[in-house]
Amino acid sequence: MPRAIAYYRPDSVEDAVALLQEPSHRPLAGGTILNGDDDPTPIAMVDLQGCSLDGISDTGDSLRMGAMTTLQDLVYDERVPTGLSEAARAELPSTLRTLATVGGTVATGNADSVLLAALLVHEARIELLGPDGHETTPLEDILTSGLAAGHVVTAVEVDPSGGCARHSTARTPSDTPIVSATARVANDGLRLALTGVADHPVLVDPADPTAGLDPIGDFRGSADYRRKLAEVLAGRALLALEETA
Ligand SMILES: Cc1cc2nc3c(=O)[nH]c(=O)nc-3n(C[C@H](O)[C@H](O)[C@H](O)COP(=O)(O)OP(=O)(O)OC[C@H]3O[C@@H](n4cnc5c(N)ncnc54)[C@H](O)[C@@H]3O)c2cc1C
Repeated sequence: MPRAIAYYRPDSVEDAVALLQEPSHRPLAGGTILNGDDDPTPIAMVDLQGCSLDGISDTGDSLRMGAMTTLQDLVYDERVPTGLSEAARAELPSTLRTLATVGGTVATGNADSVLLAALLVHEARIELLGPDGHETTPLEDILTSGLAAGHVVTAVEVDPSGGCARHSTARTPSDTPIVSATARVANDGLRLALTGVADHPVLVDPADPTAGLDPIGDFRGSADYRRKLAEVLAGRALLALEETA
């Protein structure tokens, strides 16, 4: 756990953003990472739980999930498309799902996150509040560039339409996938996202899924193995979509 030198619990997200302009201050959401890592850096925690950032709303064309919505909420809310709820279930065990939040998942940008892959194929847009006000950014951009300091993810908005299929390979059925492929039929064609082949989940061309990929190997799989898995799993996910169409 980082060395917590102070704890704040603001009542509004505007107050949270004001506190977060101090370089040593960090947003605290579910705390599964922030309270779990062993980084000794002194930080002041700005707890977002009083900022009214939870809840899911459905406008028909889009589904909006407040940043403090937990992964367990995604599993149980019937308005959440199956591809997202199944990815939330696969992401973490239930003990952590009740704590971990959508906003924390986006801010962390874990390379193996099947939930981030599902959000990518559902065309997720990230609502942020920073010192210059509100902005909305595609998830892809946040994963590529990282979240700017002093900003809070306030919500994640997705297009809930279209079916999804995911194929993955892991060392055991309950282990984190080494590589996964998630495909979705969108109004304007197919979308395909991969995990385990870059330093964050990536959207790729369904017609040429491994173009430009340069995976880094580790104890779970070499770069070549990951590239090969990406090709095979992408093919399976796309085929599964065709079969259900
Ligand atoms: C494959 C995989 C395995 C994992 N395994 C584990 C595990 O075993 N144990 C575990 O504890 N976690 C694990 N995680 C990670 C973690 O559960 C998720 O990333 C989680 O969703 C983090 O959410 P949180 O709300 O708990 O974040 P927190 O721990 O509260 O915060 C995480 C980071 O995000 C920032 N942050 C949080 N919310 C916001 C926001 N709204 N706006 C801006 N920044 C924000 C925090 O400042 C911090 O830097 C795993 C993730 C993956 C993908």
